[in-house]
Amino acid sequence: MLLEVKNLCTEFPVKRGVVRAVDDVSFEVSEGEILAIVGESGSGKSVTSLSIMGLLAEPGHVAGGEMTFDGKDLVHLSEKEYREMRGNDMAMIFQEPMTSLNPVYRIGDQIVEAIRTHEKVSKKEALTRAIDLLRKVGIPSPEARVRDYPHQMSGGMRQRVMIAMALACNPKLLIADEPTTALDVTIQAQILDLLRRLREDTDMAVLLITHDLGVVSEIADRVVVMYCGQVVEEAEVRLLFDNPMHPYTLGLLKSIPRLEDDDSKRLY
Ligand code: ADP
Ligand code: MG
Repeated sequence: MLLEVKNLCTEFPVKRGVVRAVDDVSFEVSEGEILAIVGESGSGKSVTSLSIMGLLAEPGHVAGGEMTFDGKDLVHLSEKEYREMRGNDMAMIFQEPMTSLNPVYRIGDQIVEAIRTHEKVSKKEALTRAIDLLRKVGIPSPEARVRDYPHQMSGGMRQRVMIAMALACNPKLLIADEPTTALDVTIQAQILDLLRRLREDTDMAVLLITHDLGVVSEIADRVVVMYCGQVVEEAEVRLLFDNPMHPYTLGLLKSIPRLEDDDSKRLY
């Protein structure tokens, strides 16, 4: 098993006590698997992923449970060990790539920087690698695009750049938090295709966070449904769609927009 999360509790102290944003959450991700965590806004998906990545903002903290990644205990890692792990074994992409890209540097320089933080290679070699990575994520004319600034690219292209940066370290696990939510439907489909292809080519596992069960059905092997900080259902994607057990999941399924709004043809 690549990632094991067992009884995870994550809390935020607030004036009137504590908010338990993640409450006794357990799931596993195996090598090369795409696991989706789905749930409405505020259900604890992002806090779960930030807990795994060791990126919780103070005073948020893991209050209980176990997390093991590639045999290593995550809960007791030092900040330095976490930084090394994030660079080498796990990477994360977010909904809005503009917030993670630095607006004042060319994207080529940012990828070069990401490569050179983790590996001792020359700038020239890193640039060649950066161009290869951009090609791999489907950016046309990467030799020219490395000189672009983030604002010169579309949202979809920026998300591809973020994925390229995440791939720079050949992670075993990519955590993608609503990676397509800010994109329009066509671009969304292209990014999902890309994630699927990368999984096939690299055998990287993906923890895909989304509020959209349509996205889940497109790409995931297995799905964990979260509601109010808890896991309410976990299943193979096919099984979940055929036979949702939890009323909340049923509600989510009903909210998937359909091409035809003819009730007689509804599947759910
Ligand atoms: P989502 O499923 O939309 O990603 P989040 O994981 O971001 O949801 O948030 C889950 C819950 O955690 C929120 O509803 C909120 O109550 C709580 N939470 C998140 N961040 C903080 C914070 N910094 N301080 C207090 N509570 C927080
Ligand atoms: Mg979120």
